[in-house]
Amino acid sequence: MDRSTLIAIVFLLGVLALKRLAFEIKRKHRPDYYRETYLKSGEWQRKRYVVLRRDNWRCVYCGGRATQVHHKKYAKINIGKEPIEWLVSICENCHDTIHH
Ligand SMILES: [Zn+2]
Ligand SMILES: [Zn+2]
Repeated sequence: MDRSTLIAIVFLLGVLALKRLAFEIKRKHRPDYYRETYLKSGEWQRKRYVVLRRDNWRCVYCGGRATQVHHKKYAKINIGKEPIEWLVSICENCHDTIHH
């Protein structure tokens, strides 16, 4: 194998690795990844509980009983690394209103 063939192979492998990386990053940013993977994780369940307990299971918008947690902001790079200050307890009605 001569030198230029070797360089071509290394270059190709590099391109493939970058494509793979871009794919992974995209996948993690898809909203359905968020809904289907992160929101079902034990980590999220724990965080959700911490937020609901902090807010006393009260909806921060209407004062009713909160059953859900709303993201005021989303962590763009590290999904799941958002501080709990970005999360608020909310009831189903107010949550629907916010998202529609
Ligand atoms: Zn409410
Ligand atoms: Zn929400």
